[in-house]
Amino acid sequence: MQQACHPTVILGGGFAGLFTALHLSQQNYSHPIILIEQRDRFSFKPLLYELLSGELHSEQVYPRYKELLAGSKVSFVQNTVRSIDLYRRRVNTASGQIFDYSNLVLALGSKTAYFNTAGAAEYAMPFTSGEQAIALRKHLRHRLHEAIQTSNPERRRLLLTVAIIGAGPAGIELACTLADLLPIWYDELGGDGSEIRIVLVNRSREILKGDVNSHLRCTVQRAMKNRVIPVDCLFDAAVTKMTSNGVEYQQQDQTQMLQAGTIAWTAGTAPNPLLMELPVTHNRGRLVVTPTLQLLEFPEVFAAGDCAINGDNPQPPTAQVAYQQGIAIAQNLQRMRENQPTIPVQIQLRGTLMKLGLNEGVANLFNKIQIKGQPGHLIREGTYLQLLPNSAHNRKVTTEWLTDELFQRHRAVTYMQLGQTPWLSGAATTAAALILTTPLIWRAAQPTQFQQNLSWTGVPTLLDRLVPPSR
Ligand SMILES: Cc1cc2nc3c(=O)[nH]c(=O)nc-3n(C[C@H](O)[C@H](O)[C@H](O)COP(=O)(O)OP(=O)(O)OC[C@H]3O[C@@H](n4cnc5c(N)ncnc54)[C@H](O)[C@@H]3O)c2cc1C
Repeated sequence: MQQACHPTVILGGGFAGLFTALHLSQQNYSHPIILIEQRDRFSFKPLLYELLSGELHSEQVYPRYKELLAGSKVSFVQNTVRSIDLYRRRVNTASGQIFDYSNLVLALGSKTAYFNTAGAAEYAMPFTSGEQAIALRKHLRHRLHEAIQTSNPERRRLLLTVAIIGAGPAGIELACTLADLLPIWYDELGGDGSEIRIVLVNRSREILKGDVNSHLRCTVQRAMKNRVIPVDCLFDAAVTKMTSNGVEYQQQDQTQMLQAGTIAWTAGTAPNPLLMELPVTHNRGRLVVTPTLQLLEFPEVFAAGDCAINGDNPQPPTAQVAYQQGIAIAQNLQRMRENQPTIPVQIQLRGTLMKLGLNEGVANLFNKIQIKGQPGHLIREGTYLQLLPNSAHNRKVTTEWLTDELFQRHRAVTYMQLGQTPWLSGAATTAAALILTTPLIWRAAQPTQFQQNLSWTGVPTLLDRLVPPSR
């Protein structure tokens, strides 16, 4: 009885945790809500490349929780969770503060794994948070400044080489972004952009192996070749060691060395060690949940996002899944308060989106239609911006983005340096305008059918925010 007075505690303010908290607050949940997160800012991970490149501002994709949660019913606690006692319904934090709960949401994501690669923790730069994206940007800028002052060609080559470990979606998106961006930055310093080298190092021969984006392989390969600096690939290369001078790898039984002044790591994640200690069922380190996202052994506890898996209907560890699970958990917590049974979550995958360079992307709709180039880029950024938490923040950011896109702010230099003509940019904008106007006409003519057919894509919400329907 006493436990019913304790708050609902959410651990981890990523996609699953933050959206659970926001939706609980929006649906006037009658119980106190506490969100415990170790960082002070939310990282909108699909748009970290834009944070690195400066295409989007940090307030847009790396906002402070205090601002996101202002005016909501969520109490934000910046603290690191140290242990969880499921039997006593208690969470211990690094500061010594203890939180008792009536319901708990586990949304602690995963952590970067280096698979015992020697030197990786010291010399490789991970790319999973806003903080890390900003650190990588500073490091790259520093390397370019060093290179411009170096007359020794061998040293300059090392400083201008970036090794990216892992050819999954994050490695590819990062490689494509840097292959367009670094030549621009280096030219601005008076250097020769063609000296930049971006090398994608992959253990197997295939890119996007086993990934939801694997059917985009041909489009991706073409895009990697067509960057300002084509992306180089090292396949069948098993990285064995990293040093301050680059990456050592094994290829066809031979040990080789790639000299590189920057090593970015996108090669893998591991389960959060905190959750491994819990006395519950795990599947490859992820917490096994029921279709309603509850733990089998502790039904008052929900788990979602990268740290959880429903064995009957496994979903890829992606933001779009975590986001939808957050909404479903909020609804189930509300149902529990109203003494109603919890209901299974229905995940609708919205297709896939990838960034393939500055102003270039691919939107894969219905797994049938691929929209590429600048229209693909606009759909990708527009789709993600409509997922930003907090509607006021979202509307401001989306308006800023649309203004930037329409007036090509930040982009005049980029187009010229990318060698795109104004005509091409104009054609792409026309295509994007067509893509926007067609659903507008459909929505005006058949609002119910439009909503029913496209709700899973997020397009109706995006349009409602950009161009509210006239009443
Ligand atoms: C570079 C990159 C690009 C991506 N692009 C896409 C994409 O285009 N589309 C897509 O769908 N998905 C994408 N993803 C995957 C997506 O971001 C993740 O699947 C999603 O973030 C998972 O959400 P989550 O809430 O489970 O975990 P996370 O978002 O990782 O959140 C977990 C939170 O828990 C916090 N935390 C961890 N341990 C503790 C602790 N002990 N105490 C307190 N807090 C703690 C962390 O700080 C973090 O904020 C991308 C990921 C990366 C890294």
